[in-house]
Amino acid sequence: MNAFGFTEEQEAFRVELDRYARTRLLPAYRDRAAKAEFPWEAHKELAGLGVLGIGLPEEFGGAGVSPEDPVTLGMVAETLAYGDVNVAAAPVQSGLVAAQLAEGGSRAVCERYIPELVAGEQVSGIAVTEPGSGSDAAGLRTVAEPVAGGWLLSGEKIAITHATCAATMLVYARHPGSTRAKGISCFLLPMSEPGVSVGHMPGMGCLPLGWGSVAMDSVFVPTENLVGEEGRGFAAAMHHFDFSRSALGLLCLGAARASLDEAARYATEREAFGQKIAEFQGVSFPLAEHATYLEAARLLCFRALWARRAGQPHTALAAMSKWWPPRVALEAIQAAMQIHGNLGYSTEFPLQQRYRDVMAYLVADGTAEIQKRIIARDVFRAVVPA
Ligand SMILES: Cc1cc2nc3c(=O)[nH]c(=O)nc-3n(C[C@H](O)[C@H](O)[C@H](O)COP(=O)(O)OP(=O)(O)OC[C@H]3O[C@@H](n4cnc5c(N)ncnc54)[C@H](O)[C@@H]3O)c2cc1C
Repeated sequence: MNAFGFTEEQEAFRVELDRYARTRLLPAYRDRAAKAEFPWEAHKELAGLGVLGIGLPEEFGGAGVSPEDPVTLGMVAETLAYGDVNVAAAPVQSGLVAAQLAEGGSRAVCERYIPELVAGEQVSGIAVTEPGSGSDAAGLRTVAEPVAGGWLLSGEKIAITHATCAATMLVYARHPGSTRAKGISCFLLPMSEPGVSVGHMPGMGCLPLGWGSVAMDSVFVPTENLVGEEGRGFAAAMHHFDFSRSALGLLCLGAARASLDEAARYATEREAFGQKIAEFQGVSFPLAEHATYLEAARLLCFRALWARRAGQPHTALAAMSKWWPPRVALEAIQAAMQIHGNLGYSTEFPLQQRYRDVMAYLVADGTAEIQKRIIARDVFRAVVPA
């Protein structure tokens, strides 16, 4: 077996980010997370740490493209999420948009929009989900009508991360009269264009991420804003989701690790029945069990990212690391809340906030059920007839 660990460079970067997550992000996480305001200050600090340019070409301000990038991005998401699971989503979100632009965007679009994402000056979103189609994304109805010099976009997107704070949005829309995945293209939409209106959707968590709707009423996008091939926008996006799913699994696990550490510390301080509660197996065994599950889920996510680095098939592994680790993380956070007794339920502590923030990932970027459909396809494909 080849090495299954971080390179020296990755480990040094991890140590630097870990220090930042614990000392800069963690102390103010609860306050930031309780407000529906994008955390620009922390976001710009991420740019300074160099985590918004991973895997992006140097000519557009990125750190350069290397086979190590998927693993590095996963490590970054996990490490930063220890301090703030919302802030830590930025390298994945920005990376996902910028990687699609770098791969399929016109030169003019790449030069204009990638550097500002890498510098942390702007954020961008990905708009697929609509009122009538979510899991069945190929059922989307937003139309891109060809006109001289470009297209007119009309339709409505909902449940979109960064809807209220993004400067641009990757919008998936179909050629008039087309059906299902054929005819769907991806466009870079500047949100300041006339005809775009956004609405805030209050969620139970992830408040700083600007969750909302985007309505488009005959919004003009020029030819150069097409991303990828016309009519084939979907296939390209799916390739990128194979990376983001594992990184999001690690994001959830980083938040869960912080929760378990807090519970372990509390258990060594809190006394009941004349002794530290850490001495009760009813407290120490759940900590041991969830530490085990976190480690197993973490290895699954990195296994998927290592497979991507090695150019091996990893779609099913990515789907596994999107449905199971968020669930493992939620259960660990819940156990940490229980160990904190009444304090676990208090909004004065970050545990309940992490629970609500992490819960988003059971649905965002594809539900657990949709991930299981992808895995099941692989399971049945491998069946050898008797
Ligand atoms: C916090 C958050 C952030 C999000 N950010 C974005 C974003 O940035 N961009 C974006 O485009 N979307 C985003 N979404 C939307 C998300 O991708 C969709 O909510 C998700 O794909 C599910 O779609 P839906 O809500 O329409 O549910 P539906 O597709 O209507 O599903 C309803 C239920 O039925 C189940 N189901 C559906 N089909 C099947 C099936 N074939 N087999 C088994 N079960 C099935 C689902 O798993 C779910 O439990 C976000 C959602 C959340 C919660």
